[in-house]
Amino acid sequence: MRFYLVPLDDSVSQSLVPPHVVKHLSHKWLIPEPLLNHKDKLNIPLVRLSDLPPDKLEFPSLNTTFQINEEVENMIKGRRLLLDEVIATIPLDVIYDHICNGYIRYQSAINRKPKLTCVRCGNDDPFLFGEISCARCVDKCAYCRACIQMGKVTECSPLLTWHGEESAESRNHPLGWEGELSPAQDKASEALVTHVMSSYLMERKFLIWAVCGAGKTEMLFEAIQSGLAKGDSVLIATPRTDVVLELLPRMVMAFPNTVVRAFHGGVKPEERYAQAELVIATTHQLLRFYDHFPLAIIDEVDAFPFSYDKKLQYAVECARSKQSLTVYVTATPSDELKRRVNSGELAHVKVPRRYHGFDLPVPKRVWVGDWRKKLEKNVLPMKVINWIQRHVNAKKQVFLFVAKISLMATIEEVLKSKLDTVVESVHASDPDRREKVSRFRAGEMNVLVTTTILERGVTIKGVQVGVLGAEDRIFTESALVQIAGRVGRSADEHDGDVIFFHYGNTNAIVRAVRHIEAMNDQT
Ligand SMILES: [Zn+2]
Ligand SMILES: [Zn+2]
Repeated sequence: MRFYLVPLDDSVSQSLVPPHVVKHLSHKWLIPEPLLNHKDKLNIPLVRLSDLPPDKLEFPSLNTTFQINEEVENMIKGRRLLLDEVIATIPLDVIYDHICNGYIRYQSAINRKPKLTCVRCGNDDPFLFGEISCARCVDKCAYCRACIQMGKVTECSPLLTWHGEESAESRNHPLGWEGELSPAQDKASEALVTHVMSSYLMERKFLIWAVCGAGKTEMLFEAIQSGLAKGDSVLIATPRTDVVLELLPRMVMAFPNTVVRAFHGGVKPEERYAQAELVIATTHQLLRFYDHFPLAIIDEVDAFPFSYDKKLQYAVECARSKQSLTVYVTATPSDELKRRVNSGELAHVKVPRRYHGFDLPVPKRVWVGDWRKKLEKNVLPMKVINWIQRHVNAKKQVFLFVAKISLMATIEEVLKSKLDTVVESVHASDPDRREKVSRFRAGEMNVLVTTTILERGVTIKGVQVGVLGAEDRIFTESALVQIAGRVGRSADEHDGDVIFFHYGNTNAIVRAVRHIEAMNDQT
């Protein structure tokens, strides 16, 4: 959309502008192109927001006598939405009324200076922008490819934000969870609650470094409850849809009187803009929220490679309130987080014990020679076959992690020919992925060959884990620690095998083993 840039210093222009705006502003005012029919009479320039310097945009103060439209408030409050997605349900003149009365402001969704940047997702990679000749702009119009699945960010669809009065009311949010925290969980929960209860006078960060199987969700309950009781909106953000889907029922159960909603790619359009007190969202869905959460919890912040990580960080930075507490929860903090912990810059609590109190199984390293060469002749190292056979005989299930999808079919075939048991394989783009995992969970297969997609989030009682080709670059320290974390998660099956079958030790292998030993040494 383009806007008429109306000067406010003559009576003709002022006649086009509502009195509240004229009263508060002195220079120029923007009127959306479709709302003005006077263009023949007036010689007013048409502009896009991206053509104007951002600091040139001025908005009137709040008119508290203005009758707000509740539908508009419910949609935009706490969010930053494209004008295009708002006018799909709300007429432009209704939005304009709210702008004139100080309740809605707009900003350009794309900045051209100092470099081309998408304001919604933070993308500034020139290769991730496209350009079309746009009928609305009557000009060339840039759009962002990085966040296009959330609706197209263009130069002619500004972003809208809500600026009404804050009405945070504190009310009761009883906890429906009646379990008991382990001593380690309790310590972490208490530390977190203390941080939540201290005032949010400035922006603060806190890290919960909890081993796989520590029971991190339960540790968060009291802190979430404290935030909600203050009237705060609480956010749990995670890069993975799987995690969102797993957390939703647990949070609904834990907070029976609270409005809990999950936002992920599969949410129905009519629920996309609903309000909630406790929000669980993926990175992409988070891009629709703005300046809204005094308490933001980021789960599995390290779950994806760096670029993805950066995107999640940007999304959280935009969605959290200016004065807020951001909590990172992870078993494998990035080097950057560890550096900030060690320098004392980042407040943190470590949870080195699993909730059941037993040690983490320490991975064993087994050298298997040039296994890739063997595999070319459809042979797997005997050490691998024998290890799997032993567990199959003992009625144990086995995950065999491998680095590449291209190797999986051969490995699966060789195992099927050597073992008298049910073997299958799974990878990220496998259409039957969920179904296979649930059959494995139900005990309908014994051996599952998998890529790193199952490195986290999967809890299977009594599972044994092998990594074939642990020397591959894809198996970073954190990937190996997460993989090892699949074993021994339940109290009555707290031990088990983690075997790194390798053709040469790597730093990542050594550091992963040390990482786990160090956690076991702490009490
Ligand atoms: Zn973008
Ligand atoms: Zn355009």
